[in-house]
This record gives sequence, C-alpha cells and structure tokens, in this order.
Amino acid sequence: PTQYDNRGDFPTQVKGRISIDPKNPSITRDDQKCILCGQCIEVCQNVQTVYGYYKLPIKNETICVNCGQCTHWCPTAAITEVDDTQKVWEALADPDKIVIAQTAPAIRVAIGDDYGFPIGTNVEGKMVAALREIGFDYVADTNWAADLTIMEEASEHVHRLKDPTAPYTMFTTCCPAWVKFMEYYYPEMIPKYSTSKSPQAMMGAMIKTYFAEKKGIDPSKIVSVAVMPCAAKKYECTREELNSAAKYHNKPGMRDIDVVLTTREFSEMLKMKKIDLAKLQDSDFDNLVGEASGAGYIFANSGGVIEAAVRTAYFLATGEQPPAVVLDLQPVHGLQGIKEATLEIPGIGEEKIAVAQGLNNARKICDMINAGQAPWRLVEVMACPGGCISGGGQPRSSVPPQD
Ligand code: SF4
Repeated sequence: PTQYDNRGDFPTQVKGRISIDPKNPSITRDDQKCILCGQCIEVCQNVQTVYGYYKLPIKNETICVNCGQCTHWCPTAAITEVDDTQKVWEALADPDKIVIAQTAPAIRVAIGDDYGFPIGTNVEGKMVAALREIGFDYVADTNWAADLTIMEEASEHVHRLKDPTAPYTMFTTCCPAWVKFMEYYYPEMIPKYSTSKSPQAMMGAMIKTYFAEKKGIDPSKIVSVAVMPCAAKKYECTREELNSAAKYHNKPGMRDIDVVLTTREFSEMLKMKKIDLAKLQDSDFDNLVGEASGAGYIFANSGGVIEAAVRTAYFLATGEQPPAVVLDLQPVHGLQGIKEATLEIPGIGEEKIAVAQGLNNARKICDMINAGQAPWRLVEVMACPGGCISGGGQPRSSVPPQD
C-alpha cells in the first residue's frame, strides 16, 4: 500500500498502450504495466514541482512540461517516451528522401554507457559511424548550433546590460521543459526570456534553409531528425513558431525538425540492426555549416550554457579574451540545486549570475525574483537534475541518483 492508494479513478480499465494525453508528443503510459507505485507522481510533484499532471483522475487540461523524468523513475517501463522510430525507418527506406541527423552534445557519451563502454567515454566517432550505418545521408553536430545560440544569447545579454529599460534578469531558453514551465506557472516572466532558440531549433532551421540552398537540395525532400537526450525536444519541435523553413520557402506546414529521437530510441534502432558500436570505425560529422567550438560540449551539463554565454559576453563587451576565472567558471560547476557566481566585466561592472537545475530549484529562483530578492542579471535553468546529461531520454545507466 502507498500514499497513492486513494487513486480510485485510476483508469485501469483502459487496455494496452495509451497516451496519457493523446496530444502529448513526448510521453505515453501503458496501464497494463502500471503497478500503482506512485513514483511518477513523486518525481513530477516533488522533484519537478509540476503540479497536477499525474493527479488522478487524469485530466487533459493539466500541465505536463514533457521533461520525461517520470520515464526514469517508472520501475516497470509503463511510462516511456512516444516511440518515433518507425517514422525514421520509413524515411530511411524512402529513396526520394534525404535524411539528415543532428546529435546533441549529451548523446556522444550516453550512447556509450548503453553499450558497455566505461562510464564517461566519449564515443562521438562511433556514434556518427552508427548513424551512417543505419542509412542517414548526413550527420550534423548540434554543437555548431549551440555556438549560434551562445552568440545570440551573449549579444542579447550585453545589449540588456547596457539598456536600463531592459528587464533586469535574463533567462536562458535552451530547455523546452523549462520554457513551458515558465510560460505556464510564471507567465509574467516571459519578457525576461532570452529570445534565442535552442540549439536543436537553430540547427533545424539552418538545415532546411541555408544548408539545403548551399547543397541545391529541395527542402521538401529533407527529413530532419534530431537525436536528443530529451523527451521535451519532441514537444519543442511541434511548437508553432519553429517554422523558419516554412516561412523561408513559403511552404506552409513544413517543419524545421521532422522527428526527435531520444538517446534510448537511437540505441534501440542500433540494436534492431544488430550494430555493435564497439566494432565500428570512427567517422567524422559532415561539415554541414561549419566547425563547432568547444562551447557546445559543455551545454550538456548544468552550468555549461551560462559559462559559455558569459565568456562570450565578456569578449563582446570588452573586446578582450576573458580571464581564466571566467573561462573556467568553477562556481557554476557541480550538482548543487542552485549555484551562483559574481563576475567583474570591465566597463559594465559587477554582474551576479545563477544556475538552477531541476524545476523545483527553478521555482525557488522565480519566487525570489517575484519577491524582489534576486540580484542576478543572467540565470540558466535546466529542467533535468544535472542538466541534459540526465535528460528524460537518456539511458537509465547515465542518470545519477537524485536527492
Ligand atoms: Fe531536455 Fe536538457 Fe531540458 Fe532535460 S534539461 S528537458 S534534457 S533540454
């Protein structure tokens, strides 16, 4: 018996795999596998402080931020991500389609965890080779788009620092679960958002516009697949405003990204094809649009986005390389729920920044801002504990224990 035994309206009469909400593009639940342990409610309410999604009876109007942390906690795999692998198999089998993959920074280590490599091994070359092996025509590195995100966010941050009429605090917006959380629970803070798209969204736009044009490819033939550590990215790619390609080519209905696979789905596809990652020769990313800097790699960790952003902001504001304490911003490293740092930017002055990992900590930051107790000019939020390395689409072996 658990504290959730009062869930008398639990819809156990529903047989087979169902979507909790048919409109949820990220998460499904199979009631036949559910043992009523209540761990999904535990993580949703206590860790992520998203109230109501698993409150029973399930209501369609309750909010899910699509983070997928419940998929890690469910002990029977009753809750999983929506399976989009069939869409990718169909695209790969279609000779008229050009199928392009982009891979997030957090995949290249996590996929190795799922194949028995020592924890923490970077298997980037083998990951790219595996994508080619199952038939992708091009493989792009989302790290390149992370550079775009940083240039945009850092430029906007410097602009706001110099503009006394701009909102005092700016939030990073790489994490779609955090964006949805804030839009729903703290809509008054939307002006504080960075206006930058996430790296996935920027790469999706670039593939069907700039890259398609450079290569002379009809964008209608491109199937753009993003391999992400994240269940929320499945939701993000459905957002109405991610339609740069449709606007650019005047093709209503065209999506910047067609399918998002989690790391787990990608791993399953390799296993279906009996591909042993360890036996593959390393392969390089296609140089779709340019080389990536090192900044994208650290996006996978909590604190990585803000570290990359303040380095670039320092350079944009001063024209000089940042000092070592900014390049290696130790106070934002690690797994504390809320981390803070103070920087000195010549010509701008002292700047306080903060990082929150997990939406329970994001809620504390938002409440402090609303209470007028927050000194921070720039705040990074990642919904998943530890950041995307522990994303809701990662292999369970990659996710550290949570307190
Ligand atoms: Fe996705 Fe990363 Fe946000 Fe988790 S922290 S929801 S993996 S973007």
